[in-house]
Amino acid sequence: MLFEELNLIEPILKALQTEGYTQPTPIQEQSIPTILESKDLLGCAQTGTGKTAAFAIPMLQLLHQPHANVKGPKPIRALVLTPTRELAIQIEESFKAYGRNLPLRHLVIFGGVGQKAQTDALHRGVDILVATPGRLLDLMGQGFINLKDVEIFVLDEADRMLDMGFIHDVKKVITKLPAKRQTLFFSATMPAEIQKLADTILTSPKKVEV
Ligand code: AMP
Repeated sequence: MLFEELNLIEPILKALQTEGYTQPTPIQEQSIPTILESKDLLGCAQTGTGKTAAFAIPMLQLLHQPHANVKGPKPIRALVLTPTRELAIQIEESFKAYGRNLPLRHLVIFGGVGQKAQTDALHRGVDILVATPGRLLDLMGQGFINLKDVEIFVLDEADRMLDMGFIHDVKKVITKLPAKRQTLFFSATMPAEIQKLADTILTSPKKVEV
């Protein structure tokens, strides 16, 4: 299969050409059409399978039209939660690469660094926010971030969130999201607690395993 067969818009196809991608990986082939239909997804996939592009590409397409609210401050429309700074940076770089021809703004936030650059960028407006749970909750607590307009929520590496002791923080973030949203849930393994969380936050998800 080719990316041209996945009904992607021209600015994204062009960006994928620039990246040198020709064929979608199996997880991309299975996930992209489902996500484009605004359905929930449960993906069992390791890093290295192309899972970042599997969610980033269709998210960019779903969000490529600017938000209707042209006056007031622009809300955060998509949130990606991931356990580590390294993953967060990689994910934001993927949005940057595949979204290079689109007018969307993305930002990555994580702890262990000063918050000023992050809060300045939040003030300027962000469409897609990539975050680790601790810094996200911290900035939410200080009033810099409101998740009430999030349309798409991605939970990346859910099993590692559990291993690293972040699952309570993740659940806290989820309580601040609107109930009506699209949720994409990724985990390499499915221990009972992660399966339970998936059952709670997903609505009739398509299951993709690679
Ligand atoms: P990930 O599993 O998301 O960490 O991606 C693993 C690596 O595969 C990254 O370096 C991507 O840039 C690359 N990649 C993802 N999708 C494709 C594709 N369809 N064709 C070629 N490389 C890809």
